[in-house]
Amino acid sequence: KLADIGVTGLAVMGANLARNFARNGYTVALHNRSQEKTDALMDAHGSEGDFVPTSTLEELVASLQRPRRVLIMVKAGNPVDQVIDQLVPLLEEGDIVIDAGNSHFEDTRRREAHLAEKGLHFVGVGVSGGEEGALNGPSIMPGGSRESYDSLGPMLETIAADYEGDPCCHWVGTDGAGHFVKMVHNGIEYADMQVIGECFNLLRGAAGIEPAEQAKIFEEWNSTELESYLIEITARVLAHEDARTGKPLVDVVVDAAGQKGTGRWTVVSGLEVGSPVSAIAESVFARALSSQADVRAAAREAFGGDITPDVSEGDKDAFIEDVRQALYATKLVSYAQGIDMLQLAAKQYGWDLDIAKIASLWRAGCIIRAELLDTIMKAYAEDAQPVSLLLADEFRASLEKALPAWRRIVAHAATTGIPAPVMASSLAYFDALRAGRLPAALTQGLRDLFGAHTYLRIDAEGSFHTNWSGDLTEVVGVDTH
Ligand code: NDP
Repeated sequence: KLADIGVTGLAVMGANLARNFARNGYTVALHNRSQEKTDALMDAHGSEGDFVPTSTLEELVASLQRPRRVLIMVKAGNPVDQVIDQLVPLLEEGDIVIDAGNSHFEDTRRREAHLAEKGLHFVGVGVSGGEEGALNGPSIMPGGSRESYDSLGPMLETIAADYEGDPCCHWVGTDGAGHFVKMVHNGIEYADMQVIGECFNLLRGAAGIEPAEQAKIFEEWNSTELESYLIEITARVLAHEDARTGKPLVDVVVDAAGQKGTGRWTVVSGLEVGSPVSAIAESVFARALSSQADVRAAAREAFGGDITPDVSEGDKDAFIEDVRQALYATKLVSYAQGIDMLQLAAKQYGWDLDIAKIASLWRAGCIIRAELLDTIMKAYAEDAQPVSLLLADEFRASLEKALPAWRRIVAHAATTGIPAPVMASSLAYFDALRAGRLPAALTQGLRDLFGAHTYLRIDAEGSFHTNWSGDLTEVVGVDTH
């Protein structure tokens, strides 16, 4: 029997996706550059379903029914191009090449255009949920041509995570849209994790609450509107005691956060499309700062780093609730910024992104899965789209309710000296959005003075320049530089 799909690249992610397809009744042809991984997968899990192990890409391609579907799950970057170059001569018009790794969306756009010239479909698919998701149901964000989705989509929907009967897999848009949406997902994940870290720091620094006790607080928060996978696992990590020392694990882990690059990509893309993704940017910067051990040590030496808890026993419960509200409001801002970025990118790259559908994909299977996403989906499901998530009927009232607590917490962080960059910058973003006038007017004045960049007026059409170096008269109708 010819296989329904071929998977090349059988490290942890590829192997788990292949098993997921097989467990769902598909015949899966297997290939890996080095034979050992194929053999190991067959030895350990060959009985889980119909697998067709192959030793070469030629064999892999020959074992597939048409149109052929070949899923590449190799190391992101050059290896993907290398595999594509080897595959293309073996394929025929209408075949579908799928890249489900963490590729940059610009690479996906380039590869898609290149393969389209040869009559092949190239589908960049964002997959979130880690190893476990890949095996048991990830959140899947496919791009590529609409036509390719007709053939590939049903298979992906079968292996995807399920949210109350809805598969967390929809076609999101052409060429690199799937990888773009996955990238923004990761950016939001960075912000979610950083703001959780800020809460941890505030609860301990200002209120002296130890990790084990905080674990219970996060567990309680997980039954409020904050219910999410990341809050749930925060409780688990905080509750975990190190076997070697008996200390909380968080106290023996080096406080330098790593990154594989998707957060940075999101910020760079945000800058490119002109979207103010400050919460995501601050999260990426916070990780970078955490890794600057030498500068941190010198600064601590110079200025002292001790924080004195100042929340009294009697005020503790109110403080904890304030932190929770600040977390919620900040989270709304980071999602609002992520959505804004998606919408601006859609214009720039010609994608018809459906925000409700994208939010629905993130409700299960992925790292940012949260109850909130179901509400976000509903907010964007109507014809009249909110101009910002913060203004959606579903969120406006809760944001207003959280605002006083949010301000108190940001102020408290500043006066106590506890860094809360995402909470603080998110509040600044909110305040800037609602401001009557922004100092951008002064910026324009300065730009006009030193560079004759001109300005617009609130009371007249056209562009204007003040003759700053001369008689200070205003020149009307000058060209913008
Ligand atoms: P790796 O990223 O570690 O890649 C290893 C695989 O790539 C092996 O099968 C290896 O073959 C193959 N490979 C490397 N270079 C080449 C090449 N030049 N030609 C052919 N094959 C090559 O595997 P993972 O399973 O961890 O990740 C796969 C993809 O999934 C990556 O893009 C990664 O970023 C992404 N990923 C996604 C996650 C998620 O949550 N969505 C989590 C983890 C990863 P060989 O055995 O012969 O060396």
